[in-house]
Amino acid sequence: MLKWLLLIAGIVLSCLWFKDKKQAKAVKQETATPKPAMAKAVSEPEAMVLCEFCKVHLPTSDALVIEDRFYCSKEHLYAIDGRGWLGDALWRISPNQDVRPENIMPDLAVVHHISLPPGGFKSQVSSQYIIDFFQNNLDTSVHPYFEEIASQKVSSHFLITRAGKLIQFVSTQNKAWHAGVSSFLGREKCNDFSIGIELEGDGDTVFEEPQYQALAKLMAELNKMNPQLQVVGHSDIAPERKTDPGKLFDWKKFQKATGISSEKLPFGLDSR
Ligand SMILES: [Zn+2]
Ligand SMILES: [Zn+2]
Repeated sequence: MLKWLLLIAGIVLSCLWFKDKKQAKAVKQETATPKPAMAKAVSEPEAMVLCEFCKVHLPTSDALVIEDRFYCSKEHLYAIDGRGWLGDALWRISPNQDVRPENIMPDLAVVHHISLPPGGFKSQVSSQYIIDFFQNNLDTSVHPYFEEIASQKVSSHFLITRAGKLIQFVSTQNKAWHAGVSSFLGREKCNDFSIGIELEGDGDTVFEEPQYQALAKLMAELNKMNPQLQVVGHSDIAPERKTDPGKLFDWKKFQKATGISSEKLPFGLDSR
């Protein structure tokens, strides 16, 4: 009898010993290789961002990014948004602006040229000085010409650098201070109803190919805003005071690049 009792006790003890060992192994395995579900639960969820154009929420990794802004698609990145800002331009807000009278829709684009200091773009990247000028931040110690102009309060909606980079200073819905005393076919104060576009350059140098390309891209977006938009040079609306964009701005090339109809170029295609 005693022999049987000892045998049963032996079997029970060895069963318990095996069970313990199995459990210990299972715990060890769990700590060594956590299951994927557990790993997911402890990791950070991806941050969501807002498309600047349509305000849809999307994960950061799906967004197109420019400066500190996000876009859900190329279509929205390249468009002018509901507040009058072009997605793929650099935004450098100018204080030199005010509201359009009775919120009128602009129906004219005015092409200018600008170079700071004069001819500066030929030897260096100088577009930052134009940004500084439009933001009333021009460092007058850099060049004697800057002292002359630093107190002027001017701006444009857009600047196209020699490399074809677009910079926006004022919403298309607001008035930028680019045209000055001016008259378009009998309508005075062109700033009230126009969009100002500065090309980095001067009257003695041909404009760069990427500048025409950027201008064409910008015109396509402006035309979506107002299909009736007409285009002139600054000298067309202020002939006594201004010569820009000048004889070297190629209006024929501009028309070819934009596909704009001749009726929307009331001063024609000849150089002037
Ligand atoms: Zn969007
Ligand atoms: Zn001008």
